Amino acid sequence: MSSKSMSERSFRLKIGEKWWRVDFVGSDDISRGSWGEADWPTARNPKIAIYGNQDEKNLIDTTIHELLHAIRPELSEEAVTETATLLANGLWKMGCRLEQDKSSS
Ligand SMILES: [Zn+2]
Repeated sequence: MSSKSMSERSFRLKIGEKWWRVDFVGSDDISRGSWGEADWPTARNPKIAIYGNQDEKNLIDTTIHELLHAIRPELSEEAVTETATLLANGLWKMGCRLEQDKSSS
């Protein structure tokens, strides 16, 4: 991933009535071969884990993807995948990029 460290990217987001934690993690903290994982919204302290070692555009796509699962759990995997990738592509064309770590530039 880009120069900002994984833990610095972590954030919390209120979705419905619950605060979700979104963490960017290494391969030890996510299923093998998975780019991202989201809890069910019924979890007491719901979390999303995003594999941090992917390129910038895919990182945006994966984050939108997992947030969509959290926001709209009724959507199919296919609908989430298509919507997230199109949104990521549109935002990328608009010029959206990840913030870089100031200490390393
Ligand atoms: Zn998915």
